[in-house]
Order: sequence, then C-alpha cells, then structure tokens
Amino acid sequence: MILTLILIIAAAFAFMEFVAWSNHKYVMHGFLWPLHKDHHLTDIAGKPVLQKNDLFFLIYAIPAIVLIIWGFSAGNPYMISAGAGITLYGITYFIFHDVVYHHRLPFFRNPKNSYVKAIIKAHDAHHRPKNRTDFNNFGLLVFSKRYFN
Ligand SMILES: [Zn+2]
Ligand SMILES: [Zn+2]
Repeated sequence: MILTLILIIAAAFAFMEFVAWSNHKYVMHGFLWPLHKDHHLTDIAGKPVLQKNDLFFLIYAIPAIVLIIWGFSAGNPYMISAGAGITLYGITYFIFHDVVYHHRLPFFRNPKNSYVKAIIKAHDAHHRPKNRTDFNNFGLLVFSKRYFN
C-alpha cells in the first residue's frame, strides 16, 4: 500500500515534467504566447515582479487541489497521492526555476551541485536563444547530458 502510494507520487511527478515540457513547447510558445511572453522579457530588459506567466501555476494547481479534496472526501488515498505528486512537482519547479534560476527570492543563489548547475545551463538555452525560432529546452528537470559540461 505505502509502496503503491509512493509509486503514484513519483509517477505523477514524472508525468508533470512531461506536461510542463509539452505545454511549454506547444501551448505557451504557441497560442498562449501572450501569457508567457512577459516571462521572456528579462531576456531583453527585466521582468515584472508578478508575471502573467504566473497564471500557469494556478492552472496547474487546480487538478492537484481537485484530486486532494476529492481524494479526502472519497477516502481515496490514490487520488491524494496523485495530487501530492503534482504539488511536489510544482514546489520543485518553483524552487529550481523561479528561485535558483530567476532569483525571485533571495535564496539558493550559488548552487554547488552539478545537477543543479546543469539545470541552470539548460534553462539558459531556453532564455538565450540564438533567434526567435531557436528556443531550446522546454523542460526543466530532464535535458540533454551536454548541459553537464
Ligand atoms: Zn518559454
Ligand atoms: Zn524561465
């Protein structure tokens, strides 16, 4: 039972990296570009403190909240675990993307860990494209091993 719940949390977490990658690549850089554009303004000048792009956090929070509330009211631990996996991904994304990379909070400015450094290089490839169509690396935690060098 516990093992199953841990596996569901891990699966939901991994699935969210896929959702984040595909949504970022095909939706946020597609028809919802007007909501994501201000996240890329820093590549030119400097970002607003609150971005329209932050709306995506709320959008991702909805299925997690629904799963957790529904899971508790139905007494279904599997739904709660799925909601917890999504929430854990959201927290991880916020820490690595918004705090470590974009410095939106004054912590974790100088990571020493080589994986965390690779996350930074990989996200750099997204924020410093060679041209408008050259956006690379739409995911966060999964990327080419070349960023380790
Ligand atoms: Zn982007
Ligand atoms: Zn970013």
